[in-house]
Amino acid sequence: MKIALIAHDKKKDEIIELSKKYKDVLGLHELYATGTTGTLIMGETGLSIKRMKSGPLGGDQQIGAMLAEGKLDLIVFLRDPLTAQPHEPDVSALLRLCDVQKIPLATNFSSATIMLEAIKNKIYFN
Ligand code: PGA
Repeated sequence: MKIALIAHDKKKDEIIELSKKYKDVLGLHELYATGTTGTLIMGETGLSIKRMKSGPLGGDQQIGAMLAEGKLDLIVFLRDPLTAQPHEPDVSALLRLCDVQKIPLATNFSSATIMLEAIKNKIYFN
């Protein structure tokens, strides 16, 4: 599967925790991430990740373009719902495209855990 990992700044700790916990299962898949998120995860886990631009500089749109072309199977986007984001339009567009393409999207730690458990236990295949 092709999996994209994104986290707003106040959720970076959570995406690192999640990536460490599911390192083995994530390592079996093709991983993509926005710039800073990808750099942090690679540094903390050693996972191989194709990095896009940083989210505020267009990375979310790059992930969105992949979605539009049917090139992603799962998105983990740990959003910070309590902080205004300068690139909110890009974020909304990305979430919308997940629904257009019927691509599973986890926007918080708990839903991401359920999805990664489903993949780990081979309950969900794209
Ligand atoms: P970042 O982007 O991984 O470059 O921080 C994430 C975002 O804010 O969309």
